[in-house]
Amino acid sequence: MPDPRPQLKDQSIPALRTRFAGSGVAPWRAEQVARWLYARGVEDPAAWTDLPQELRERLADEWQIRALEWDALERSADGTAKGRLRAADGALVEAVLIPEGERTTLCVSTQVGCPLACSFCATGALGFTRNLTLAEIVDQVCRMKEALASGQRITNVVFMGMGEPLLNLPRVIEAVRLLLHPKAFALGPRKVTVSTAGVVPRLGTLLRAVPVNLAVSLHAANDALRDVLVPINRRFPLDLLLETLRAAPELGPRRPVFFEWTLIAGVNDAPADAIELARRIRGIPSKVNLIPMNAHADSSYRPPSPEACSRFAGELMRHGVIVTLRRPRGADIDAACGQLAARRSA
Ligand code: SF4
Repeated sequence: MPDPRPQLKDQSIPALRTRFAGSGVAPWRAEQVARWLYARGVEDPAAWTDLPQELRERLADEWQIRALEWDALERSADGTAKGRLRAADGALVEAVLIPEGERTTLCVSTQVGCPLACSFCATGALGFTRNLTLAEIVDQVCRMKEALASGQRITNVVFMGMGEPLLNLPRVIEAVRLLLHPKAFALGPRKVTVSTAGVVPRLGTLLRAVPVNLAVSLHAANDALRDVLVPINRRFPLDLLLETLRAAPELGPRRPVFFEWTLIAGVNDAPADAIELARRIRGIPSKVNLIPMNAHADSSYRPPSPEACSRFAGELMRHGVIVTLRRPRGADIDAACGQLAARRSA
């Protein structure tokens, strides 16, 4: 029998304040609840000792506290950890912890599957099942905190896992607000990045709602190729996407766009592609992240050689672009970009 009670983590802090006010509880108790759930990671209301006993009992009776349970945790040789988490309806959700020096980045999912069907992406090959709830998005952070080594903490969160965040925008915005809230996860706005494949009409809403980083999955600098790699380009072509970014008053040198470019051998890794990219993004405050393609079973695309990747990065730099060439992480456990497919282990 499914548990009919609502999920407490589906409540934003303002929504919980309103509920409390309507039921005779002081609204500021909502911040206390957030602190226990998100800052301290204590999920048993009985242990919330600064709340009155009666309220603790009511919360425990009326709400579900956990939206996701562990299905599997895999650790890569490079330290990357992929959590496969199970929602109440059995849907599987993947989140990935990526330690790198002082920083530990958590990559979270926003949908079960993805409707955008990018041709290099294992998630896209799954098709789309449903949006994740707010509770299911934030519970990825709560669960993955349990996978941290002692002394390790999540310093950055990126919305780059399964799904297109802008197609689940109201919940993504509420999740971001909890990540930034000083009583919840208390991350700085530059420590949170929301990625999009280019759902142009929703860019402004995101940029105005939350002051976090925006990443745009570009992968091609002309419509002919982008139509194939990122099919949503047929609805919102490059000119429209880039002009919208160029005109966005929220973006600037202190809040640049991060253009993501998956390097695919023989497809978009030629020096001419780099020159075209540099030309197209000129005038947009931005940085380019190059990620060599991660091979996976559903795709015939392959990564370029390290030399071809360096040549591409060098060409961009020569044209004044700020570039980071990333190492693929967690590829041995299918945790790298474009590999998340929530497969059950055989
Ligand atoms: S790359 Fe992102 S937007 Fe494209 S299909 Fe995969 S998950 Fe969806």
